[in-house]
Amino acid sequence: MPILVLAEHDNARLKPATLNAVAAACLLGSDVHVLVAGQGARAVADAASKIAGVAKVLLADAAALEHQLPETLAPLVADTAKGGYSHVVAPATSAGKNLLPRVAALLDVAQISDILSVESADTFTRPIYAGNVIATVQSADPIKVVTVRTTAFEAAPAEGGSAPLETLAASASNGKSTFISQELTKSERPELTQAKIVVSGGRGMQSGENFKLLEALADTLGAAVGASRAAVDAGFVPNDYQVGQTGKIVAPELYIAVGISGAIQHLAGMKDSKVIVAINKDEEAPIFQVADYGLVADLFKAVPELTGQL
Ligand SMILES: Cc1cc2nc3c(=O)[nH]c(=O)nc-3n(C[C@H](O)[C@H](O)[C@H](O)COP(=O)(O)OP(=O)(O)OC[C@H]3O[C@@H](n4cnc5c(N)ncnc54)[C@H](O)[C@@H]3O)c2cc1C
Repeated sequence: MPILVLAEHDNARLKPATLNAVAAACLLGSDVHVLVAGQGARAVADAASKIAGVAKVLLADAAALEHQLPETLAPLVADTAKGGYSHVVAPATSAGKNLLPRVAALLDVAQISDILSVESADTFTRPIYAGNVIATVQSADPIKVVTVRTTAFEAAPAEGGSAPLETLAASASNGKSTFISQELTKSERPELTQAKIVVSGGRGMQSGENFKLLEALADTLGAAVGASRAAVDAGFVPNDYQVGQTGKIVAPELYIAVGISGAIQHLAGMKDSKVIVAINKDEEAPIFQVADYGLVADLFKAVPELTGQL
């Protein structure tokens, strides 16, 4: 039976997380279909058809789908899945985590969340207890509804495929929710979950103003800026900077943690980074237990010096 992957996109561009979801789906079987639901999203469907390993692209293009409200999208995905799919797969991003539980409920199956590996078509590993335990879970449900931890799967190549495109009947809004407005962060820096280098600040930064030190370092390195929850809760930086169990999961080539103690909930979001650098004035800070390079120093001295040297 084919596997249905939900494309994440903004009607213009396919988001890279989709490629990680496709990679996971390819481990489940060879008949991988990608569903692009949106409005004016033909360019996204064309991009999806080029992904290596994709056998078919389904395009649902309708005004009601413009903002991909999960209340409207979930019945479409569930109905499509009932048409003979073994799995529904989406990245475990904010969008995927918003949509897939609704799909699972409509299909009356259990969602399998945030998988780290595919052991077989019905068996997966996933983190529990903030990543301290890896559970192996087996599902007997007829349709497996799975979200994928994107950092655990190497992205499928964006080029190389030429999957045919099929159009799905347009769906109407079910009127349960209405789009009012959105405020999108505008940044020249790379997106946190896609960046090769992340510079994160914690409570030790003391203020939002002081994050300018990290921004200067990040811009020198071409890095994204992240934060601990304490820094977000203190209002230093917006919510979408948060790395950790209840924030974003990142696994860049280089993660620089500045003024972050290394609480388990923060580690859950970054400990798979290839190289971890920590700057903290407390040599006992737990972050040093996961750091490849640790600098016991006052960040207000060390960060400008580092930026200057770079
Ligand atoms: C259910 C739950 C979910 C959570 N989810 C998350 C999450 O997703 N992400 C997350 O980050 N946290 C999360 N937390 C919170 C987490 O437990 C910690 O409270 C938080 O990570 C601490 O942030 P911090 O390291 O910035 O602050 P602190 O623990 O206060 O550490 C600040 C560090 O800065 C250092 N410092 C201070 N001044 C300087 C200086 N001048 N130079 C150098 N170093 C300095 C200090 O030595 C200290 O180590 C969660 C907690 C719970 C209960």
